[in-house]
Amino acid sequence: MSGKLQALRKVAALDSRIFELEEKQRQIPKLLQQKEQALEEARQKLAEKEAGLKALRVKAELKEKELQDAEQATIKLRNQINQAKSNKEFQALQHEILSHEADNARLEDAVLQHLQKVDRQKEERDTMAEQVKKTEAALAEDRKRLEKDGQHAETGCEKLRKERAAASQEVPPDIFAKYERLISRRGQTAMVAVSGGSCQGCFMTLRPETMAQLKKGGDLVTCHSCGRILYLEESA
Ligand SMILES: [Zn+2]
Repeated sequence: MSGKLQALRKVAALDSRIFELEEKQRQIPKLLQQKEQALEEARQKLAEKEAGLKALRVKAELKEKELQDAEQATIKLRNQINQAKSNKEFQALQHEILSHEADNARLEDAVLQHLQKVDRQKEERDTMAEQVKKTEAALAEDRKRLEKDGQHAETGCEKLRKERAAASQEVPPDIFAKYERLISRRGQTAMVAVSGGSCQGCFMTLRPETMAQLKKGGDLVTCHSCGRILYLEESA
């Protein structure tokens, strides 16, 4: 590989590392956003659970009130039976009391079922709340870590950009200009290796004359298909 290509190769290698670090920086806000969204969804579900639990408690309280009223009514009937004036009245009241007692037993069951349901929902709510807390703590940790990663990437980028500026001084201006144009079109893969006789940018098989030019070295060789600058790996 000629000296000018060697120098361009150095710039391209630096660009590849710069691109990686820039990509890392670009991913950080996306990662955080995903995590924030997951937390927001968990909070939303917890709020729904909380609302469901509240409604269930109101229902359970209403059932309890209903039972208390029914029991009061039964007590009233029992008092009445003591003052029954005839056997007929006594029997009618007794019949009514039995019926009330059966109803009350059913109500008691219903109240118990409601309270059990409240307990189950409360347990589920507590588990969800615990999970939300854990997710919040994890997000705070992630945020710290990612911010640090971002700072490292930024510092690394600055250092590499300086190195690139220095390395680009070694590249003849016309070649560098061509490379810069390619970079703006092709991103970090403006300069690619040749492997197994194929361009590693577009994977087209290169013409024999292109391979011969590359082997000869010296001139800037580009892929006939995608226009990327080609180089042979040292071992090739
Ligand atoms: Zn190509």
